[in-house]
Amino acid sequence: MIDTLRLTAEQAAHLIRDREITGVELWEAYRRAIDERDPELHCFLHVCDDPGGDGVPLAVKDVIGTRGIPTTAGSKMLEHYVPVYDATVVTRAKAGHGLRVLGKTNTDEFAMGSSTENSAYGPTRNPWDPTRVPGGSGGGSAAAVSAGLAPWALGSDTGGSIKQPSALCGNVGLRPTYGTVSRYGVVAFASSLDQVGPVAKNVRDCAFLYSVLAGRDPCDSTTVELPSPVQLPDRDSLAGVRVGIPTEFNEHEAIEPGVRAAVQRAIELCSELGAEVGECSLPLSLDYGLPCYYLIAPAEASSNLARYDGVRYGYRTPDAGDRLEMYTRSRDEGLGDEPKRRILVGTYALSAGYYDAYYGQAQKVRTMLAREHAAAFERFDVLLSPTSPSVAFELGAKTADPLAMYLSDLLTIPSCMAGLPGLNVPCGLSDGLPVGLQLIGPQFSENRLFEVGYALETAIGFDPVPERYR
Ligand code: GLN
Repeated sequence: MIDTLRLTAEQAAHLIRDREITGVELWEAYRRAIDERDPELHCFLHVCDDPGGDGVPLAVKDVIGTRGIPTTAGSKMLEHYVPVYDATVVTRAKAGHGLRVLGKTNTDEFAMGSSTENSAYGPTRNPWDPTRVPGGSGGGSAAAVSAGLAPWALGSDTGGSIKQPSALCGNVGLRPTYGTVSRYGVVAFASSLDQVGPVAKNVRDCAFLYSVLAGRDPCDSTTVELPSPVQLPDRDSLAGVRVGIPTEFNEHEAIEPGVRAAVQRAIELCSELGAEVGECSLPLSLDYGLPCYYLIAPAEASSNLARYDGVRYGYRTPDAGDRLEMYTRSRDEGLGDEPKRRILVGTYALSAGYYDAYYGQAQKVRTMLAREHAAAFERFDVLLSPTSPSVAFELGAKTADPLAMYLSDLLTIPSCMAGLPGLNVPCGLSDGLPVGLQLIGPQFSENRLFEVGYALETAIGFDPVPERYR
């Protein structure tokens, strides 16, 4: 019997290599787990047939294009879209290690949201407590990994959509340095922020999957080759590592006491493991990160989503009148409230006469946030804070209040704006729900993040299997 709840991707690969199980048996174990638990959780929008082979199965967020497999981005607009090519990340996953696409995971529409409740196909539920959200926008990927429906998954992160759901579901998730992973074939939300990255059960699997994804892609001119190869972490000590604690990110009033306590214990562990721990300050990042993001991301989204007009791409209304009416109705019927809200805000911020005041100003602030982080990295190797101010919240708790929903990403957005990598590592429970630790490093510091994440993970000994499945 293969226990998919506990099996890591590394273990699965070894079982196959040693001929203890076959590729078919492994695939079927995940299919059984999906049949058993996904009717309640709704992690998958599409489950694939076994393409054959011995590679480890991989769940893929539904904003990532997959050849011959529906790719909806959680939107009615793309309900019938079946790409004729694979996104580069999928090509790399298949080519490098024969990974097999197990299915497409639920997401907030066009990755806009923090709870997966903005999906046009209904929400995903948190495996730790199905009355609660799994986070978002990549709630499907995170919940699938924590419920043992997939050994690992691809997510995409614009302002926190890998890190935050990983925190709420108790996974390890990496948002990579901007430019290290190709966006070719990925449904665009905000192009200067979007990054694909891995979600896994532990740091080593996460690091391995990152090594498969990362590198220069001639089809995405914003990508670069990694300055040094990915290293799988194996060190238990943090001797010589300088860990910075940004006070604003650790003492903010929005942080729940249970989250604060778990993160505090992790900070103490850093010292015990030999790290040099000190405080620092990122005042601009916390005050201006979120407002600045909610100008730049919608501005870019309004431009990226202009292609869904029922002619070039996407759903077309069945009862079109004249040309203008056809555009209007197709967009009105095909898009949900959140994309519409962002298209309105973004179009406004980019309009003549307002461009400098909003978009131009936000870009200047963005540069200041990057500088503020760079200054902190003169003294520290990594910065540590909670990933999310709260544990998983109840379904419906924030749907009526977009601003409350936006605040879920208070702590994840600033480093995204600065183009920096961030790793979520589970650091304990609060009220029986996972708490995530966010580790931020300078550009291209993924190996360092894996090293610190691995040492903490080993010392913390978090059990990634939700209590109700044990
Ligand atoms: N929750 C944030 C938003 O709604 C981030 C989403 C993301 O990273 N894709 O924009």
